[in-house]
Amino acid sequence: MPGLLRRFVTAFAEPAPEPHVLLIDDQLVTVNFRKHGTAKRIVLRLARDSTGVVVTIPKRVSRARGMAFVEKSVPWISRQLKLRKPQTVLGHGSAVPLRGVPHQINAGGHRRGLISIDPVTCAILVPGDPKHLPRRLKDWLKALAKAELAEASHRYAKAMNVKLGRISIRDQKSRWGSCSPAGDLSYSWRLILAPPHVLDYVAAHEVAHRLEMNHGPRFWRQVLTHCPHAGEAKRWFKTHGAGLHRISI
Ligand SMILES: [Zn+2]
Repeated sequence: MPGLLRRFVTAFAEPAPEPHVLLIDDQLVTVNFRKHGTAKRIVLRLARDSTGVVVTIPKRVSRARGMAFVEKSVPWISRQLKLRKPQTVLGHGSAVPLRGVPHQINAGGHRRGLISIDPVTCAILVPGDPKHLPRRLKDWLKALAKAELAEASHRYAKAMNVKLGRISIRDQKSRWGSCSPAGDLSYSWRLILAPPHVLDYVAAHEVAHRLEMNHGPRFWRQVLTHCPHAGEAKRWFKTHGAGLHRISI
């Protein structure tokens, strides 16, 4: 076999599986693959430093099948990471997901000014005295959450032809949103940490309660008619929802 062809065949039969990065809860998790000549099945374990997972795959098993195995195991990985990881306390240098994208928090050098986002480095710049950083950051996140949830709620109210009462933002542990009989909506500020389609779904869900104060088939028909990504958002909560509550601020 000519050298070039042999090298090609060897490379094809034994690809060096490239690492992959997943966002699980609020953490970037590196998936490293190992090919193992005598492995009989796919084996998944947490990396020793808890920054990722190591997947050992038998020689003939493709990276894609290994990756499918990892994706099925996301709830397991999430549980393992939580067992090893203390609660994230937000401060200078720590990371927080914003609209589903990890951002680093930087205490700015300026004495005054507004909190801003640096979209290039995915950083949240918090000027002023670092000792006020947690409070300022939380107020800012709550204000952002309120603006986006109010916009989504009014948009869905218009589409569903219903009236809304007051919209408030809280830090409720048990639910992401609620709708009172009078039409007052209440949401968790943590929804701003989730991807936009997730926040959007919660607004659709609560506004749909203006039509149906239950979770029956008619309620879900309303939600799905106006918000086709509801199923995807619900799946997101199953995997990542608990992670949003582990962020302490
Ligand atoms: Zn509901």
